[in-house]
Amino acid sequence: MQLHRFEFTQVRMGVDARIIVYAPDEERAVRACRAAYTRISELEQMMSDYRADSELNRLCQRAVGRWVKVSPELFSVLWRGQKLAQQTDGAFDVTVGALVRLWREARSTGKLPDEATLRAARARSGYRLMELSFQRRAVRLKTADMQLDLGGIAKGYACDNALRVLRRYGVPRALIQMGGDIVAGDPPPDAPGWRVELAEGGTTTLRNAALSTSGSTEQYVEIDGVRYAHIIDPRTGLGLTRLVLARVRARDGITADSLATAAAVLGEPDAKRLERLYKGAQVSVVSSN
Ligand code: AMP
Ligand code: MG
Repeated sequence: MQLHRFEFTQVRMGVDARIIVYAPDEERAVRACRAAYTRISELEQMMSDYRADSELNRLCQRAVGRWVKVSPELFSVLWRGQKLAQQTDGAFDVTVGALVRLWREARSTGKLPDEATLRAARARSGYRLMELSFQRRAVRLKTADMQLDLGGIAKGYACDNALRVLRRYGVPRALIQMGGDIVAGDPPPDAPGWRVELAEGGTTTLRNAALSTSGSTEQYVEIDGVRYAHIIDPRTGLGLTRLVLARVRARDGITADSLATAAAVLGEPDAKRLERLYKGAQVSVVSSN
């Protein structure tokens, strides 16, 4: 059967979500990709920190001091995030939302938060302030006004979900990219894998694997000659000021995405420890000062 290449791009989770598939005809490709985008939209409604009515943001309001049951999807992403927080001593931490908000404010005002504001936001952050109950599939927050933020992990998970949908629609030869997160399924016909271009030059090949890039070079605000990246260093409460590019290849998108963000915070040589914790993951970090 002759397969043809189809490519689609739609904005999801604040980035271009690109899907490339090989399918026997356009109708099959469109049907499969439409279902994949619908799935990503559902996940966005669960996990967005921008939408006031997302499941995540409602959770932040309701779960202060009491258990709130959440969807299986939201729970599994929070669970993975919390596990990685424990493994990295909080370098990766989905409770940094209040600090992310301060960073966004700094980006628009060009000013760092004052000390008291920073201290208050730090008091509302920290993975130990979030409790998860596997039995109840529920979340409890220890402090009011916490902001959860899945920006470092949800896109990889969404790519994984999209690939699963495409397979279910009989289109397993697919590649999904959301910003710096890529998940590849079966390879294109007559190719060993999907050729992916790397930001620093060169290419790599992916099949049934994921590749994520994180770092301080894309999104940052410069204040008094210092660049603060959109990734928060929980040790300072501010954006990373080191120049760093972290890349992770792993078996699935949620792993690659979250480990890449964690690796950017950890830097060398600590990031390499992640390879021992996640079988099959390859972590590389390039940084300066
Ligand atoms: P990524 O581009 O995957 O590295 O994710 C960066 C995003 O993750 C940021 O825009 C924040 O939404 C979120 N984030 C920032 N700092 C952290 C952190 N230390 N741990 C987990 N997520 C973070
Ligand atoms: Mg990430």
